[in-house]
Amino acid sequence: MLGTLTRYLRLMGYDTLSANALSPGNPREDTVLLSIAASDERILLTRDAELARRGGERAVYLATEDPTEQVRRLAGMGLIVPSLRFDRCSLCNTPLRPAKKREIEGAAYAPEDRQGFSFYWCPLCRRLYWDGSHTRRIRRQFGDAVSEIRTD
Ligand SMILES: [Zn+2]
Repeated sequence: MLGTLTRYLRLMGYDTLSANALSPGNPREDTVLLSIAASDERILLTRDAELARRGGERAVYLATEDPTEQVRRLAGMGLIVPSLRFDRCSLCNTPLRPAKKREIEGAAYAPEDRQGFSFYWCPLCRRLYWDGSHTRRIRRQFGDAVSEIRTD
């Protein structure tokens, strides 16, 4: 339910697990989530008010469906600093590392003109990332979205 927020949090560098990674329809899923939050010292973000209540101090209830509002809420609570870092894979949460030459050359989707780009690699997805049109687009969307809370 919080897929876009999950992606945003990872792009901001926050270690973020998604409940989507658990098998669906698990009758004990809520209990599993609460137990993971407690053992990993994670904060459980949920749109389920009852689950948030059960999570107590370790859970945050997000009433809004709007990912932008969700980011604002978390920032307003002092839980995150809304600044994009692009240092974590937005798909799998693994920290990125600088890409090796052969990894860049092996990626058919890499730009042909690599001048001025920085390349990063997700060792789990084996996926190449770089600072280019894609990150510029995210920066622009995100900047528009969170500009209101960056009043400093
Ligand atoms: Zn990955």
